[in-house]
Amino acid sequence: MASIARALRPLARSATASSRKVRPSFAKSAPQIRCLSATAPRRDIDISEIPPTPISHLSETENLMADSVSKFAQEVILPKAREMDEAEAMDPAVVEQLFEQGLMGIEIPEEYGGSGMNFTSAIIAIEELARIDPSVSVMCDVHNTLCNTAILKWGSEKQKKELLPRLATNTVASFCLSEPVSGSDAFAMATKAVKTENGYKINGGKMWITNSMESDVFIVFANLDPSKKYKGITAFIVEKGTPGFSIAKKEKKLGIKASSTCVINFDDVEIPKENLLGKEFEGYKYAIGLLNEGRIGIAAQMTGLALGAFENAARYAYNDRKQFGKLIGEFQGMQHQMAQAWVEIQAARALVYNASRKKEAGQDFVRDAAMAKLYASQVAGKVSSQAVEWMGGMGFVREGLAEKFFRDSKIGAIYEGTSNIQLQTIAKDLQKQYTN
Ligand SMILES: Cc1cc2nc3c(=O)[nH]c(=O)nc-3n(C[C@H](O)[C@H](O)[C@H](O)COP(=O)(O)OP(=O)(O)OC[C@H]3O[C@@H](n4cnc5c(N)ncnc54)[C@H](O)[C@@H]3O)c2cc1C
Repeated sequence: MASIARALRPLARSATASSRKVRPSFAKSAPQIRCLSATAPRRDIDISEIPPTPISHLSETENLMADSVSKFAQEVILPKAREMDEAEAMDPAVVEQLFEQGLMGIEIPEEYGGSGMNFTSAIIAIEELARIDPSVSVMCDVHNTLCNTAILKWGSEKQKKELLPRLATNTVASFCLSEPVSGSDAFAMATKAVKTENGYKINGGKMWITNSMESDVFIVFANLDPSKKYKGITAFIVEKGTPGFSIAKKEKKLGIKASSTCVINFDDVEIPKENLLGKEFEGYKYAIGLLNEGRIGIAAQMTGLALGAFENAARYAYNDRKQFGKLIGEFQGMQHQMAQAWVEIQAARALVYNASRKKEAGQDFVRDAAMAKLYASQVAGKVSSQAVEWMGGMGFVREGLAEKFFRDSKIGAIYEGTSNIQLQTIAKDLQKQYTN
């Protein structure tokens, strides 16, 4: 159990006496943005005392995480990636091994059976998984960055003791916000909850819910008092099997086909009051905070996807395919395109890791997360498309992974906030910064 994580512990980045100070003028000029993170700012960390390091720098623990997830993805997931895509289903053995590797409880403390690692370790795992299979990556992403985080942040002690060991070891979770009537305008949801003698009753329906087929635990947002509009939104924990809960339809998709995406119905679903998550009427705040963090995860998924598409095509161009008597990777026309793609992938990675480090340091990261998700999904789309072209006919056929990366890339501009919504977040923040 938790084989990677058991061996690994987060390394505290110590602030030593020899640390160089960040120039005060630079530190002070940082824009002040309201933090909507689900994570409380870590006031104990004075990052001005930390020596500046490259954004690509990883701690020893994080490097170990990257190496072991990469090995796991190559050895266990790669042989099944094409098959799972064709079958439009996740192999249960892959899910089991994600748990065994400690990748489903990355930030869950060890006292609850988790891996006790930091947020950046989760980002690294999501990226490394996407380098091989973005479907497996999103399962890990939603489970860790949205569901586990929700319970860690707002779960009661009883909920944590009961749920976290399950979420870390054998139980997949889903995050249920979107509905047929509410996607980008998520808080216009129609699902309602009413109070009962012993708890709550939920009625309504959710749409496009990732992991639905594999999950047993569902974090569900419903409006407990529509007269309060979005301020009536409240979060609940619903277990699969609760009477009235049903998975109505599994979507057939363009990409990330092995990841299940379903419509869920709630028909007089009665849950005990202990299944309230956090406080009544705070659900909208939880959803905003979680999605702000979750976007860094999707950005990591898209960066990993871009890297995977690039590497797959680069190996072919530099080693396998000859035309006009030369390896196709020797043509300058190809080399320049590949160099440009590499720059863009590294720029996306820098945005992802910068957002992740800012979150961990308790700094405002909302704009950074939006920039990372927007740009990484653009790069994933562009590079995976070019990679198909670099491989010619071999890129177009459903044999290798080139066409799969291309199809999988499209979702990056849609879920956890479309590209327009990311632009809106960035634009609003800029307006606030520059309005006198
Ligand atoms: C594969 C998949 C998995 C998903 N997983 C989950 C999940 O696990 N949980 C969950 O809750 N949801 C999930 N979703 C839902 C996802 O988050 C929504 O699809 C997404 O938020 C967009 O909503 P929508 O599809 O209703 O598009 P719409 O909101 O209808 O948007 C359509 C278009 O209009 C644009 N638009 C909308 N509003 C504005 C605006 N104000 N300004 C400019 N342009 C605008 C959008 O950018 C987009 O281009 C998933 C979706 C998919 C496809």
